[in-house]
Amino acid sequence: MPPVMPVLALDIGGTKLATAVVTPDGRTHGFLSEPTRKERGPEEVIAHLFDLGHRSLAAAEVAEVSAVGISCGGPLDAARGVLTGPLHLPGWIDIPIVELTRRAFGVPAVLENDATAAVLGEHRYGAARGAEIALYLTISTGVGGGAIIDGRLHRGAAGNGGEFGHLTVRPGGRLCQCGRRGCLEAYASGTNIAERARDLLARDDRPSVLRHEDPVRAEHVSRAASAGDVLAREVWDETTAVLSQAVTDLVNVLEPHVVVLGGGVTRSGALLIDPVRDAVRTGALPPAAAARVTLADLGDEVCVVGAAALAFDLAETLHV
Ligand SMILES: [Zn+2]
Repeated sequence: MPPVMPVLALDIGGTKLATAVVTPDGRTHGFLSEPTRKERGPEEVIAHLFDLGHRSLAAAEVAEVSAVGISCGGPLDAARGVLTGPLHLPGWIDIPIVELTRRAFGVPAVLENDATAAVLGEHRYGAARGAEIALYLTISTGVGGGAIIDGRLHRGAAGNGGEFGHLTVRPGGRLCQCGRRGCLEAYASGTNIAERARDLLARDDRPSVLRHEDPVRAEHVSRAASAGDVLAREVWDETTAVLSQAVTDLVNVLEPHVVVLGGGVTRSGALLIDPVRDAVRTGALPPAAAARVTLADLGDEVCVVGAAALAFDLAETLHV
């Protein structure tokens, strides 16, 4: 068999664009990341993305790839390869990104939701490698995720499964971006951790180091909580409580081998994962409670590596 060619991976985030050439061992080459500056609109941003992709190819000294994988936040139509109106990219309506990419690079392309791509990346190359049943939660600006069941990605009837961020953890609670109340995302996303901290500071006059931050961000809250700040600790404890509740419920429902937590908020490390791990061990039903709870392996490169996993699958299907 001829050696498997590398693929090119493109990630369209609300804050950053990222591109890399990925080899079949999951390693990235010529990884580049630059600010999205989404105010420029889709045409300019996409031109920038493609330029970045070509620069990754040059940096990796790769002349040919078999396919291109693209990851982006939803809503999107993966089957048609169209960005229908991603929440993090206002004004991007019905952008045929797969067709544009195919024209720009001259090879087949595939599109997937970024959280789904991340699940695939962690399952094929990262912390969930080899697991038959795995759950992945990304805790970042929002909360997303996905499940691997019997070694395969669970997509759902129309490809929208794995919305772990919208599990109801506080019925009637905080309003979520999805329009419902009490979702996990409305408490545990970086945006909402910061917002809950700001709300508490406004209605509580106890001293807190967070009063020196403007605006308060999630990483300020975790740092202050770790240093013993009482107010920050309250905000953080509620974060880990709702996350623990959601993960314990998921473990009971699906009895996974492993639960992987990734995304920017997990940079807080043990402060976030230890309470969740303890909650699963003591709160889930045995033997599901034996599920391993671990941090993601792939860090900031997870979306490009996940998009690459999809591109390899596409190339294999097409015998490229
Ligand atoms: Zn929601």
